Formats: sequence, structure tokens, C-alpha cells
Amino acid sequence: MTNTTDNGRKGRVAVLGAGTMGAGIAQVAATAGFSVALFDVSKAQIDKARAGIAQSLEKLASKGKIDAPTKERALAAIAAFESVEDAVRDASFVVEAAPERMELKRELFLAVDRAAPADALLGSNTSSLSITEIASVVKDPTRVVGLHFFNPVPLMELLEVVRGVRTTDAVVDRALAFAKDLGKTPIVVRDFPGFATSRLGVVIGCEAIRMLEQGVASAEDIDRAMELGYRHPMGPLKLGDLVGLDVRLAILEHLHKELGEQFRPPALLRQMVRAGKLGKKSGEGFYKWDADGPKKA
Ligand code: NAD
Repeated sequence: MTNTTDNGRKGRVAVLGAGTMGAGIAQVAATAGFSVALFDVSKAQIDKARAGIAQSLEKLASKGKIDAPTKERALAAIAAFESVEDAVRDASFVVEAAPERMELKRELFLAVDRAAPADALLGSNTSSLSITEIASVVKDPTRVVGLHFFNPVPLMELLEVVRGVRTTDAVVDRALAFAKDLGKTPIVVRDFPGFATSRLGVVIGCEAIRMLEQGVASAEDIDRAMELGYRHPMGPLKLGDLVGLDVRLAILEHLHKELGEQFRPPALLRQMVRAGKLGKKSGEGFYKWDADGPKKA
């Protein structure tokens, strides 16, 4: 939106969920000049998100990608809230980035609907779930749209805008303008399980895990195959670690149910999630992760 509020900043963006994606979305919105209201059920996650955002902004400033005043203003523009209702009360845009579970997202949108301004755009960062179904719980489903960001949000250019069955053209146009305001390049897809990106991305990720199970090659060599042979910037197993193996499993379970056998989650992936090996966020997945990045597990 073009109006400015909150001490001269553009409208307010409420981000619900301060995990891997919520933190990145909050950072990008604050850097683009919005004020940001951040909500998470876990206070520890809010603290972790704040520390991560400060570190990421510092890194961008040291590389000359943003200047020092922008960094300071962005940090100051992010406020934490203790309830969904308070976070969304003055929002122009709501972006939900909570775990990939339909029941949880529906509950959150019910709370959002109680308190958000009637003209706020309601977005979900879901990777695979139906925007139409999420929208079905709010009074005006025409204003609900998928806003699918990519990880790490500050570096990834794409924003996949997902049009639900009832989403209006005006709302899609507003989402496209929001994407551009955040410095992203949008694509528009119809609401269909896995949209364009997750459906294609998890096929490669899933096959790479099966190849590891079958002893075709080491994790490092499977990744190198795609990095050097196909110019992927990051191999599929490393990417799975970065996304979060629990997130990947939730997406696969949903796509398996909706689209069939080719998306059946590999047994190895289930075992790793049960063992708490979730990838970068837990320190170990197909690789071991520390501040310097991935190492052989
Ligand atoms: P995450 O596990 O890193 O973070 C989820 C956060 O939501 C946690 O901090 C958790 O405390 C919080 N949460 C739990 N219940 C909540 C509630 N009721 N209200 C508010 N917050 C709540 O997950 P993530 O990777 O950030 O994924 C979030 C969403 O983004 C999912 O829908 C996922 O599919 C999607 N997504 C993830 C990626 C990725 O690479 N990880 C990429 C694109 C989209």
C-alpha cells in the first residue's frame, strides 16, 4: 500500500510465526520500509528471530548491500506482540508463516479474521496446502492469497503468488504490488497442491533421499552432481537441510495424499525427523551445520 503510517513507514505487515521463514519475511518487510508486527507462540523463537535478523542485516551492511541507517531503521521497525489479535490489529498485510498443518493455519486465520482491519490482505506462506481451504474459515475469502516466499527470504528473488478459488483480481494485483515493494519478482499460480515450485522441488529432493537410501552415492556427491552437472546453486540434500526436514516431510505427506505415489515420503526422511535431525535449524540433517555452514555428517 502506498499510505504511510507508524512514524512515516509504509503500512504495517503482521508476520505470524517467527521461525525460519517468518524471521526472513519480517526482515525483508522492515528493510523495505514497512513496520512489522511479529507474533509467535514461543517467546524463545521471537528472541532467536530478532538475533538472526540483526546478524543477517549486519552481514548485508558489511557487504555494502544496505547502508547503516537502513539497518538501524529496519531493526527498530520490528515489534513483537503476545497475541495474534494485537499483531494484526493495524495491519495492511498479514503473512502467516506457522507450521505446515491445515488445522493450525485454519485456527490462526479465524483469530486473524476477528481482529484484522476489513481491508487487510491476508496471506499464507504455505508451501503446499490449499489456499482455498485456508480462506474458507474467514468471512471474506476473496482477500486471502498465497504469498509463498523462498529460503533464505532476504536473498531469494521469487515470490509465488497463489490465487485461491475465491481470490479476486484486485487482491492478486495488490499481492503483486506488495511483492515488488519487497524487491521480489512474483509469479502467479492457481491453487493446486504443491503450486509450481514445491511440486517440482520436492520431486528432486525426494529422489535424492531415495538414492542415498539405495547407496547410489554419498550425500556430498549427490549434491555435487546437481551443482556441477546441472548448475543448481545448491544440491537437493543440502537444500532439504536448509528448508527443514520436518517441513519437507509435512509437504510430502500432503502431496502424497493429494497427488499420489510419486510423493510417498522416503523411510529415511521419516527416521531422521523422528531422531530430531531436522537440518540446519537443529544443527544436523544430511550434513552437520554450524555458523560456518554445512560439513560432512
Ligand atoms: P519453522 O518450524 O521454522 O517455524 C514455524 C514457527 O511457527 C515456529 O517458530 C513456531 O513456534 C511457530 N508457531 C507454532 N504454532 C504457532 C501459532 N499457532 N501461531 C504462530 N506461530 C506459531 O517453519 P518454517 O520453515 O518457517 O515454515 C513456516 C511455513 O512456511 C510453513 O507453512 C512452510 O511450509 C512454509 N515454507 C517454508 C519454507 C522453508 O524453506 N522452510 C519455504 C517456503 C515456505
